[in-house]
Amino acid sequence: MNIILLGPPGAGKGTQAGRLEADRGMVQLSTGDMLRAAVKSGSPVGLKAKAVMDAGELVSDEIVSGIIDEKLGTLASRQGVIFDGYPRTAAQAEQLDAILTKHGRSLDHVIELEVNEDKLVVRIVGRYTCGQCGTGYHDSFKHPKVAGVCDVCGATEFKRRPDDNEETVRTRMAEYRAKTEPIIPIYAARGLLARVDGMGEIDAVTAAIEAILDAV
Ligand SMILES: [Zn+2]
Repeated sequence: MNIILLGPPGAGKGTQAGRLEADRGMVQLSTGDMLRAAVKSGSPVGLKAKAVMDAGELVSDEIVSGIIDEKLGTLASRQGVIFDGYPRTAAQAEQLDAILTKHGRSLDHVIELEVNEDKLVVRIVGRYTCGQCGTGYHDSFKHPKVAGVCDVCGATEFKRRPDDNEETVRTRMAEYRAKTEPIIPIYAARGLLARVDGMGEIDAVTAAIEAILDAV
């Protein structure tokens, strides 16, 4: 089974893909992780990507798709995959069709995690982790039992990701709306699209996704 998880950054795609990987033995293809791995491995596409990034430029759709192509070539054709953060543009969506055909695969489901932008901002901007053990907390939803002290390890240092600020989140949302949302109707027209409420509890979102994958 080959599926795409769509949704803006912070919608929980990575978390859900990780669960599907664990529950179903599928492979999560996260373009961010794969790009870093390809650069490190020095593969042909990785070298191209490195040259572009060293020049301070954005990696092109062709390079991102090339990395997906390279990776699929290393997997058994029966190995199911979850595309996480890809395709991000109409050009990538077209390239993906060609790549899947080349590898004898086809798409089974495109699942969009729907979010409420304002709630998503609260969710992302409020999160922080223990600086020592990495336990996650949240300004609104999950406080340490004793203020300023980690429940798990007792540390008093916490950290936030620099990207977890409102401006960055809103910029990424706008980019998602402008570049990625336009590809959704294409998948809907092909009968592949399902929508899941991405604002629910993580377990509820997983259950909704599993129900879609299990429905025949
Ligand atoms: Zn801790």
